[in-house]
Parts: sequence; C-alpha cells; structure tokens
Amino acid sequence: MPSSWPELDELIRELAEVSALPHAEAEPLLSEASMAVSKATAELTRAAGARHRGAVAARERALRTIEEARAALERARKAIAASARRIAAGRTAPAREGTSVEGRVEAMCPACRQAFVVRYRAPLPTPTVAFPVACPAEKCDGITSVEYPASATDVHVQAVSA
Ligand SMILES: [Zn+2]
Repeated sequence: MPSSWPELDELIRELAEVSALPHAEAEPLLSEASMAVSKATAELTRAAGARHRGAVAARERALRTIEEARAALERARKAIAASARRIAAGRTAPAREGTSVEGRVEAMCPACRQAFVVRYRAPLPTPTVAFPVACPAEKCDGITSVEYPASATDVHVQAVSA
C-alpha cells in the first residue's frame, strides 16, 4: 500500500528488517510489534482521510501509535538479539559483546526550527536507517527523519536550547 507518510514506510521497513533477523520467528514480541505497526497503519490512514478540526487529533493519535510501534519493534529487536546471544554463547564465545557504542545525531524540526539531538547506544554502528523522530517541543507535531544505526537502543531525543 503506497502511503504519503514516509514514517510509516520506515516502520514497515524496520519491521521487515527485525523479522529477517536470525531466530526472529521464535520471538513472541515480534508479533506484538507487527500488530502495533498494523495499528499505526490504520491510524495513519484515518489521519490522512480526516479533515479540519478532526485532522489534528487524528494526526496526534497516529503519531502516538507510531511511537508505540517503534517502541514495540525495539523491544522485539532487543529480545531477538538477547536470544541470539544466548544461542551463540551455547556454541562459541559471544562475539561483539561489550562493543556497544554511544552516539549522537543533531537534527532540526522542519516545523518549528527547534534544534534537537538524538542520543543512542548501538551494538553495531552500521547499517543506519532513517527513523521518524517527533519534535521534542511540547506544542509541536513536527516530525523529521534522523539517520542512526538500525540496531540502536536507548534512543533519547532532547531539545537543544539556542
Ligand atoms: Zn517542532
């Protein structure tokens, strides 16, 4: 289904990516994440069709479901990584353990020009994926794509005061 919401396309791409991880099929959190993505899809479709005053509320609801779906995907990704590590540890010494890196990306909200920084911890620096990031400003519903590692966890968005 083509969509005018790039953040939805990215969610779906991320879902596909997480689903393709080794041992993903055994992870119950993955079906939870896939359901959350479906819910976000439905809300976005509704928001796209909403007009006037209803559109603002629908868009807010849609953005919340995107956040929920992203969080669910992160949980699934972590759980899959943990069980993959357990399986690997049973056979060989765990590779890459403790190589997690911290990083930060600066970005700017296209709607209100608020500068913000995305901080993350990632076990692998590549590949990177453009994630939809909601503006940290309280009254702003701006959203922008920020590229950071696909394996990033502990993602925090923080406004930078001018
Ligand atoms: Zn903003």
